[in-house]
Amino acid sequence: MRDIIKLLPDSVANQIAAGEVIQRPASVVKELVENSVDAGSTEISIVIRDSGRTLVQVEDNGFGMSETDARLSFERHATSKITSAHDLFHITTKGFRGEALASIAAVAMVELRTKREEDEAGTLIEINGSHIERQEPCPMHTGTVFSVKNLFYNIPARRKFLKSDNTELRHIITEFQRVVLAHPSIKFSLTHNNEEIYKLPSANSRQRIAGVFGKQYNQTLVEVNTSTTIVDITGYIGKPESARRTPGEQFFFINNRYIRHPYLHRAVMEAFQGILSVDAVPSYFLFLTADPATIDVNIHPTKTEVKFEDERSVWQIILAAVRESLGRFNVVPSLDFGPESAMEIPILPTGIERPTVPEPEIDPTFNPFDQGEYSRPKTNWDFPQNYENTRNWESLYSVSARSGESQQQERAENMAVENRRRFFQVKNRYILCPVISGIMMIDQRRAHERILYEKFLTSLGDGPKPVQVSMFPIEVELTPGDMVILREIDDDLLKMGFNVEQEKNNRVIIKGHPADSRNPNPLEMLFSLIAEYKITLNDPSIGARERVAMAMAKASAVAYGMALTQTEMEEMFDQLFACSMPNFSPAGKPVMNILTLDELDKRFS
Ligand code: ADP
Ligand code: MG
Repeated sequence: MRDIIKLLPDSVANQIAAGEVIQRPASVVKELVENSVDAGSTEISIVIRDSGRTLVQVEDNGFGMSETDARLSFERHATSKITSAHDLFHITTKGFRGEALASIAAVAMVELRTKREEDEAGTLIEINGSHIERQEPCPMHTGTVFSVKNLFYNIPARRKFLKSDNTELRHIITEFQRVVLAHPSIKFSLTHNNEEIYKLPSANSRQRIAGVFGKQYNQTLVEVNTSTTIVDITGYIGKPESARRTPGEQFFFINNRYIRHPYLHRAVMEAFQGILSVDAVPSYFLFLTADPATIDVNIHPTKTEVKFEDERSVWQIILAAVRESLGRFNVVPSLDFGPESAMEIPILPTGIERPTVPEPEIDPTFNPFDQGEYSRPKTNWDFPQNYENTRNWESLYSVSARSGESQQQERAENMAVENRRRFFQVKNRYILCPVISGIMMIDQRRAHERILYEKFLTSLGDGPKPVQVSMFPIEVELTPGDMVILREIDDDLLKMGFNVEQEKNNRVIIKGHPADSRNPNPLEMLFSLIAEYKITLNDPSIGARERVAMAMAKASAVAYGMALTQTEMEEMFDQLFACSMPNFSPAGKPVMNILTLDELDKRFS
């Protein structure tokens, strides 16, 4: 029988490897910029055309390469950074696998110019789809320029798969931010289609953060500085009052490498516990330094995931460090929203057992998103996974499960009482209303989010909504990253009644906001809208329209702490029950609950 196993030609093997490392133009930016950092550069400029589809160019003033190294750099597993497996435990550079350039060259047309200080002339190499087209001496300054053109030109399927220009640019900016924050002393610039998006001078860490996210950041940052035998932590946390209801800027770096670490994120959240409004997420920029031997960065192709030898201790240290900073800087807790307790139980005389608050029986198999029309909530930290298997949303109308028929009957009865209904607002947070079966409790903010969400969704389909024209238009400067997001959604915003016009130099003017909005501050509304939008960006289960409607609803819904009149509560109640899915907020959180008569009776027995 004939032998059937063949070695793949290098060009094919490289294309396969490229799939892991190079997923989109942003990956090219990341890999090239990291190489420039590893080469000891003090200045790195990035030029992008068409969101990286036609050109990603990275120029540095690092130590360059010899003629031979330039040629070798495109070979797989060619690296100057490690020589043995042993070195994997002492990695201090960003790269080490020697895969990136080979992968890029396999799926694009690459031109490299490079020169070392000691060489007279530089080297020029052109390589298309792993095939060397040209190699010759060239005039060049000390350093390296990589020009990556026509990414995925030889893999049409891949090229088609790329998202809209705006989306790809946003990914590029995200990667850019991660590297520049980790290396504040390096000068960086980023230019897209001849427009300069960022120009960052050499700076310290705090200045760099302000350079990337806006000057206003400076006042909100509190320093963190802790040294232990396991890990050193420096950096900044945002003051609690500046925390948004939605994740904004959260960054962990380990040995100057950006990492995602949901587990350690929870340590920061824990430190802030009790001093943040419900749902708020603080910003943080935490730089961890640890012995490379105690960290494994080799668990993921893009190296954004790492494993610590002693993760629990690192968790504890982060918790303590952040807490200490909050205390040391005497950061005053914002007391707007206390802990969850909705109804205060009067203090009982000693000796009498405190009654336990009854747990409403919620059908755990309920799935509000089963109908397919609505987006599944982002798997947020507090969204119970088991909602996934749920079925019948009507069951929530009556808290304990009942037969379908009596359920209908009870619902009708509830509605009847509503004709003589009265509303009470508790802590300017919950709306209470007696119904036949007991007391209905509604979370005012979530209810309003649901109402607005459905309205906005409709107007996205049907066309323009009434705009409340501002008497005094507000002008503000956005960060380049946020500007890209705004361009992505501004047409939709206008349809929903939010009129934001773009000026030069990342400035925008808010000329009108939706008439339905209960957010008194259009500027705050714009910021939280963008922040909300960002959160759901990486959740593919949320459609584009749902995403923008959800962000608008969150940004314009009535806040906790806002007093409502009888009429307003009544209106909200009616509008809520006119919704197609009144039981859940757009993010999938419960909007209402009923404290049943049975439960009330039990308390008095
Ligand atoms: P890795 O970074 O994992 O070593 P790469 O494929 O990214 O692998 O790069 C291969 C090699 O090319 C590097 O190890 C380095 O020696 C060289 N190189 C790449 N980019 C540069 C640069 N901008 N300046 C100097 N040398 C570079
Ligand atoms: Mg590299």
